[in-house]
Amino acid sequence: MRVKEVPTPDARSGENDPRAETRRLSGLILVDGALRKAETEAQFDVIHPGDLSVIGTTPRCGQADVDAAVEAARRAQILWRKVPARDRGRMLQKAADAVEARRDIVERVLSLDTGNALRTQARPETGSAVDLTRMFGGLAGELKGETVPAASPNVLHYTTRDPIGVVAGIIPWNAPLFLFVAKIAPAIAAGNSVVVKTAEQAPFCVLLMAEILNTELPPGVLNVISGFGEECGRPLVEHPVVRKVTFTGSLAVGQAIAAYAAPKLCQVTLELGGKNPSIVLADADLDLAIPGIIDGMRYTRQGQACTAASRVFIHEKVYDRVVEGVAKKLSEIRLGDPLHEATDMGAIISAEQFERTLRYMEIAKSTPGVRMIFGGEQPTDPALSKGYYYPPTFLDGLGLESKVCQDEIFGPVATALPFREFDDMIAQANDTPYGLSANLWTRDLSRALEYIERIEAGFVQVNQCAAPRSNVSYGGLKMSGLGKEYALDSMLNHFCSSKTVLINRGTPAVGV
Ligand code: ADP
Repeated sequence: MRVKEVPTPDARSGENDPRAETRRLSGLILVDGALRKAETEAQFDVIHPGDLSVIGTTPRCGQADVDAAVEAARRAQILWRKVPARDRGRMLQKAADAVEARRDIVERVLSLDTGNALRTQARPETGSAVDLTRMFGGLAGELKGETVPAASPNVLHYTTRDPIGVVAGIIPWNAPLFLFVAKIAPAIAAGNSVVVKTAEQAPFCVLLMAEILNTELPPGVLNVISGFGEECGRPLVEHPVVRKVTFTGSLAVGQAIAAYAAPKLCQVTLELGGKNPSIVLADADLDLAIPGIIDGMRYTRQGQACTAASRVFIHEKVYDRVVEGVAKKLSEIRLGDPLHEATDMGAIISAEQFERTLRYMEIAKSTPGVRMIFGGEQPTDPALSKGYYYPPTFLDGLGLESKVCQDEIFGPVATALPFREFDDMIAQANDTPYGLSANLWTRDLSRALEYIERIEAGFVQVNQCAAPRSNVSYGGLKMSGLGKEYALDSMLNHFCSSKTVLINRGTPAVGV
């Protein structure tokens, strides 16, 4: 196994110094249009996973800060809902322009916060976040109801599409900017105000983006607080003024959030985990399938993606060729300093996630017959000894019953699984409580259509495995979630309420 070493880091001083930016944002939240100190005195350190340095501190908000943020949002929403929809959209688009103008620093702070490589992850994610903000700004004119054929000629029957009120967003650390925008942009375009709780591991990139967006939005429409799940996330979900919760994260927390929201019958959108299959049939174009498996596993995000396809089913006729091809390509991935331009793959977010990967690798290594096709050992390069680095790892020899093949590891570990019969493979691919995404490579159209019909996944791709993006409606089946995001239907179905109106024009006018 070989991990390419990355040479000396880029210069990153001056106005694009992300550490200066995280120091500036330290100890602050954004409420009522301005960065401010939190009500709470308590703070905790934020660590750069690339070298374990402290990049700043963030407030450990609790009930008092939740109350202040929700109150600011409540007041702002009274006026915001009256701003014409297309004007709201135009403001959002100007806000997206403002972020784009500062994207150099935003993407560097994103890389510093998360340990995700600047070139392969943080830069495209920042671009996607800007794009998604613009898209929802442009869709604001679609916030329309319907007229319905009435039961009587004297009756006008129609529906409205209205804001819900104050929305709570709770986001994870793995793609924090894109997921932040997926929560706030459709909600704000639809006339709601929002309070977002950032992930404790990666608060600064979101706070910075929110600060820039706030230069174009009225105070209080977008508020950002920070803290831990039980202390800050839970009171936010339970706050009586919050009438909609949108969450991305783990299955266990998603279930808890749905339970907190249930007593007040508050709507919840959940984007949860996956244990997704990539499937290569015997007739597949391997020049597409081999790089596709690597992209599908999201190795260059250290496998920290809900859509990571960590179970790779390969037909036995092409098994050896595919496995060799994947190993060769993995050897070209450069693991290293996330902020260096040459790096393909950065660091795992935290000690907790790093140890989780190591634990699953112990399970794999202690299973008789397991083979490391690539990776499987921590890098020995001293330059990588300070951070949470683990190489892209591809292994085989495990049965589907192994915990490595059952659990969402959220690390850079995928398992190859040979198969002979299509029916058996589909049954195995579906043998998981999750149903998020699935990828297939084949030239056989009829097989592809059969797979689309039988695979239990909400996001299905054939001969490619692009990451979710703007205008692609995305959401899971089974235990992978509730609802859809990233497209018009998310704004219309998840961030709006509706009235059904019946007007009988037969009543005579009075006093005319
Ligand atoms: P991950 O495993 O990716 O860290 P989590 O589901 O643990 O995902 O966390 C995602 C987000 O949910 C984070 O912002 C976290 O603080 C928040 N969170 C965790 N536990 C709770 C909880 N009990 N209530 C509300 N939010 C929570």
